[in-house]
Amino acid sequence: MEITMKAYGEAVQLLLNAANTGTSGGRASAQVLLCAYNGEEWQLDVTDLGILDHRHYDAAITVIRGRKELWHEPQEVVENGGRRFDEILKRWGHLRVSERGKRTCFNCYGSGKVPVALNKDNCDEMVTCQRCDGKGRYWQE
Ligand SMILES: [Zn+2]
Repeated sequence: MEITMKAYGEAVQLLLNAANTGTSGGRASAQVLLCAYNGEEWQLDVTDLGILDHRHYDAAITVIRGRKELWHEPQEVVENGGRRFDEILKRWGHLRVSERGKRTCFNCYGSGKVPVALNKDNCDEMVTCQRCDGKGRYWQE
């Protein structure tokens, strides 16, 4: 069956909603959208499709087919696509190809900041984490 622009747009919309959550389904949805957006910087772990329920899995396949068969990038087929993709680019930045091999910093829990000193009165003051140089992630040694 042929993919229509309407079906493609609805599938992108459904996955965008999921990708705006911090869930494992959100992670899988984000990978589908982001690799259809820019396949050099983002890639889909196909085994993550197993996380999706039937409805979201169908949407994922529709997005893949829409990208190939209709020759439109996913951000072009929904309203405010550029802005909405920016949101998931930020949320899922650690899934970029260049970031994939890194671990979340155990010292700052990925925030890049640590308290100045735990035993001082003013322990709200934060400084850059030395372990990860403020990036929140680092290459596993
Ligand atoms: Zn750190």
